[in-house]
Amino acid sequence: MKKYAIREDNSLGREYLENKSPLRNDFQRDRDRIIHSSAFRRLMYKTQVFVNHEGDMFRTRLTHSLEVSQISRGMARSLELNEDLSETIALAHDLGHTPFGHAGQDVLNKCMKGHGGFEHNYQSLRVVDKLEKRYVNFNGLNLTFESREGILKHCSKKNATLLGKVGERFLNKTHPSLEAQIVDIADSIAYNIHDLEDGYRSGILSISKLKQLDFFVENYNYLKNHLDFNEVNEKVSVHETLRRMMFILINDVTENSKKLISESNIETISDVRSHITTLINFSEPVQNFLNDCRIFLRINLYEHPRVSKMTSNAQRIIVDLFNYYDENFEALPSDYKIYEKKFRSIADFLSGMTDRFANEMHKSLK
Ligand code: MG
Repeated sequence: MKKYAIREDNSLGREYLENKSPLRNDFQRDRDRIIHSSAFRRLMYKTQVFVNHEGDMFRTRLTHSLEVSQISRGMARSLELNEDLSETIALAHDLGHTPFGHAGQDVLNKCMKGHGGFEHNYQSLRVVDKLEKRYVNFNGLNLTFESREGILKHCSKKNATLLGKVGERFLNKTHPSLEAQIVDIADSIAYNIHDLEDGYRSGILSISKLKQLDFFVENYNYLKNHLDFNEVNEKVSVHETLRRMMFILINDVTENSKKLISESNIETISDVRSHITTLINFSEPVQNFLNDCRIFLRINLYEHPRVSKMTSNAQRIIVDLFNYYDENFEALPSDYKIYEKKFRSIADFLSGMTDRFANEMHKSLK
């Protein structure tokens, strides 16, 4: 591993001191704690874009997290960084997501207006710091500082001031470890490519629609000239193209980051944190391709009537459940009531629900 990678001997450690594991390093141990958590299992029934009942073939937050973890590990290995830490952060990065994808998060944030708001990254940290209850000596999973730092990808200044050391970088504008920066990028690679694939599978994005995206066309044409697309069906040609797009994204960010790191002359983890920019980044042309994907997906998939119908159903469910627990706070499970404020407890409970559970609760209210 490079000198500026995170290792056990330069880690800032855990809040509650624990004996070392004889079998695993600290970051492998963090990963195992995440995999054994109940929030992790619930990712299986949380939406990425398509609601669970729309089909068994679409991504869920669980399969998304596994994809992010594989991409992150490959990049960390190639850059000689701490693969275990990147894997850990990736598996935990979406633990705080509400049911019903971004629609759920946006509406819960609206419900929480005036009560501190709702941010899913902050909630992911809250899950591993407080809400998981499996140990006698502490609440949460008592993860290392570096895992927690990576999980808190974004944070408002207001919340950052409440978090102590792990919130400091949002106030003094420094950066997290390279292992965390990798996960941030791997997340965007994973969801852009898999949302194109799920969009195609759902029938919302046809191949002629996909061909409106330059990045797609360029790679489709390249493969058409190099493989015999006449011999394969359309579906395989789309998958081959998306696969190649993913390869280009991962390869570009890895090679470009190697260059950025070597030009930066960083030597230690504190050099990484205080460097003027992040060091895990795409080259400019490929960054532009990714931005195009994002815009394309927003216009053609996320705002498509079939997806927005699901979005408005989801919003109604969250609002109704929020109002119900506001008026009937005694009905909230006691595990969730022990924290600081009523509305925060409601948000903790609602955001932990799976799509399926939220749907069933909603039906039972009527
Ligand atoms: Mg994600």
